[in-house]
Amino acid sequence: MLDSSMTMYGAGLPVDGHLLIVGAGLAGYHVARGARANGHQGPITVLGDELHPAYDRPALSKAFLSGAAGIEHLVLDDPENPLDVTWFGGAAAERLSAEPLGVETSDGRFHDADAVVIATGAQASRLPLSGQATFVLRNIDDALALRSRVVEDQRIAIVGGGFLALEAGATCAERGAASVTVAAGEHHPGAARLGAPVGEAVRLLHERRGVHFAPPSRAASVRDVPGGQELVLADGHTVEADIVICAIGATPATAWLRDGVLSLDPTSGAVLCDDTGFTGMPGIWAAGDCAQWASQASGLRPVGQWQEAVEQAGILSASLTGAAPAPFQEPYFWSEQYDVKIQGAGRISQADEVRVIDGSIETADLLVSYLREGAEVGILGFNRLREVKRWRKQRQVRAADVLVA
Ligand SMILES: Cc1cc2nc3c(=O)[nH]c(=O)nc-3n(C[C@H](O)[C@H](O)[C@H](O)COP(=O)(O)OP(=O)(O)OC[C@H]3O[C@@H](n4cnc5c(N)ncnc54)[C@H](O)[C@@H]3O)c2cc1C
Repeated sequence: MLDSSMTMYGAGLPVDGHLLIVGAGLAGYHVARGARANGHQGPITVLGDELHPAYDRPALSKAFLSGAAGIEHLVLDDPENPLDVTWFGGAAAERLSAEPLGVETSDGRFHDADAVVIATGAQASRLPLSGQATFVLRNIDDALALRSRVVEDQRIAIVGGGFLALEAGATCAERGAASVTVAAGEHHPGAARLGAPVGEAVRLLHERRGVHFAPPSRAASVRDVPGGQELVLADGHTVEADIVICAIGATPATAWLRDGVLSLDPTSGAVLCDDTGFTGMPGIWAAGDCAQWASQASGLRPVGQWQEAVEQAGILSASLTGAAPAPFQEPYFWSEQYDVKIQGAGRISQADEVRVIDGSIETADLLVSYLREGAEVGILGFNRLREVKRWRKQRQVRAADVLVA
């Protein structure tokens, strides 16, 4: 497909070249949108293994699981003004070819390309042994299967202490499940990552709604027992339930790339890239949860977060199409549990001190500051939308000052 007579952007993609995006999720959609916004005239194809149009995932553990939102609320593209893109759904990418550049899919097609962007996201991790009623929560089909089972007489066990697990727990409690038990590795979920005050506040928030916490121990397995499921913890404790939701993290969806064309992180399997998303292989780029950019590998940026996928997609599409990439923002994440919105911004993982600067852990009205060597590097609020917004805005201004200076 490459024709040397064509005009090229700096990154080597001909201005009317074919951009092939693998993964019709958040990052894939935003790469396509960014390329079009930057004026790319050539064809853009997006390959996805799901049958749904590209959609946003955060509501899957919140409003979609509760039934308050439908699929139409999650769809990323604007039906009034759809992107000029060819979508291929329902066929998984199975092989990446560097020469000729392109991707083979499970329906036997070969899609040739002038540039390939890998944006296949992540897949939910599972326990080594699962029962018949063990669910994960990564895509619409998972959420639909679970939604129909989370009804009033069900006892629910949740494995995991991250925000996804806790959001699922909150939604099940709000739907009136007979019981909700969270089996997290920590007594105060999230304390190791976000500090003791946040872990304590999160636990209290759930306990006030009747959620139980199993003794802190890693979950080992789930087995079918008469009348339900039994979750077995590493310390020997067991939790009886009708449904088990396994929310123990996710791993990059890169199994189809294990043929050696690209460098993958030996531990996580993520596609290794520089901070523009370039893999080092001519014409091949990656973004989102399947990728590990250089600043993520060095611990400066988080992985597996919505804002990170969108920012990477913007930087990557700008780099591909010769536009000026926007500088990275301070990292940001949010979670919604009951009527509480938890928002965190900044370099929280680098803090050596955590201080409660307003509110209290008992009231779920909390503002926490993260410091490193005495300087504030991050902030986290429970229902503190204004303060977090102001902090992020100030940091943006400061970042711009630094760039100008
Ligand atoms: C339930 C849930 C709730 C979340 N809530 C929050 C939140 O509140 N805040 C926050 O910051 N982040 C949240 N996240 C994280 C955020 O949604 C992800 O970081 C984001 O979706 C990553 O985007 P992505 O495009 O890399 O991956 P995805 O959105 O997962 O898209 C990848 C797509 O590629 C497809 N694919 C995979 N393999 C192949 C293949 N071989 N061939 C073709 N297609 C393939 C997948 O099926 C998927 O459609 C949540 C995630 C989940 C699952």
